[in-house]
Amino acid sequence: SIRAPPSKKTATLQVAVKCRPLTDAERRHSRHIIQVTDDKGITVLDPDLSKDYLDRVQNRTKERRYSFDHAFGPECTNSDVYIKSISSTIAGVINGLNATVFAYGSTGSGKTYTMVGTHDDPGLMVLSLHTIFDLIKRDQSSDEFEVTCSYLEVYNEVIYDLLEKSSGHLELREDPEQGLVVAGLKCIKVRSADRILELLNLGNSRRKTESTEANATSSRGITITSMLYFFTWPSRSHAVLEIIVKRKRRKQYQSQVLRGKLALVDLAGSERASETNSGGQKLRDGANINRSLLALANCINALGKQQKKGLAYVPYRNSKLTRILKDGLSGNSQTVMVATISPADDQYHHTINTLKYADRAK
Ligand code: ADP
Ligand code: MG
Repeated sequence: SIRAPPSKKTATLQVAVKCRPLTDAERRHSRHIIQVTDDKGITVLDPDLSKDYLDRVQNRTKERRYSFDHAFGPECTNSDVYIKSISSTIAGVINGLNATVFAYGSTGSGKTYTMVGTHDDPGLMVLSLHTIFDLIKRDQSSDEFEVTCSYLEVYNEVIYDLLEKSSGHLELREDPEQGLVVAGLKCIKVRSADRILELLNLGNSRRKTESTEANATSSRGITITSMLYFFTWPSRSHAVLEIIVKRKRRKQYQSQVLRGKLALVDLAGSERASETNSGGQKLRDGANINRSLLALANCINALGKQQKKGLAYVPYRNSKLTRILKDGLSGNSQTVMVATISPADDQYHHTINTLKYADRAK
């Protein structure tokens, strides 16, 4: 029998904001307009005001201030983000809890850097996976563990398998034991974090990106570096890495299975939601990506209300993305949203949009 652990009343939601450093190119022509005031606060300067003017009158009325569960400045590593906002959530997954971690932000704001990272600064996907396998290794019980993963993308409200070379459209179906499942989705048994990264890398080369050139290079070597290369193309799809940890517990004559699920999501660039004026394919992309992002925003918003005031209706059914993520956003689950922003003045409007989205979630 598959059973959930005793459930808390509502899902918990944490909102973190991460501001990346200026890139070398930006340093030459952009101004840094973000200040992380403490471990929760973010201030955005209005870039229309000249720096001289600010220096002269110290006009603070042209600032926008926000406060979140966690705020991380350009000097923070992915490990800082992981330890403060994710690690406690991941620990629950090997005990049957569900969790969802997603990065939200415009293209170039640092979603991929945050989720995947680099060799020197491994991202949340990498750190989470290592923790899961570490916890399993250190577990003192006689329980048996089984870790499986799947990797899918939602593009134009259609689901594709990123672990299957020429995957067709996949459908969502209700399973009596597991709840909502993606029918026919490849689930692979894994024994180490490295194996998952390999699979991820393969899947990423199949993601629908802005440029077909990115796909042309997909036969390149399987390394984290090449993975980052793919990720730097604006992504038009939402990619969901799902890790399921089954814990088989033996008690004399009966056995019990705890099933924990961790979804790690790299959302499509949020600017797509407002960039839908060029017609044709892009308009459809925009409308559908917008639908998933909007639906996610509404769910997150409802969850925030639920957390504060108790009962609230959470509209999971409005998009493929939210239906897929439902288990990880409801019941006894924990959700962490990491909103990523650029500190550059020319990204001001994207930054404000992202912070507003994140603010609605609180
Ligand atoms: P997105 O996935 O949101 O489109 P990326 O993760 O590709 O954005 O980041 C855009 C650029 O900024 C990349 O060149 C990336 O290496 C750099 N970058 C992002 N976050 C950081 C960081 N914390 N430290 C250093 N460079 C970063
Ligand atoms: Mg990216």
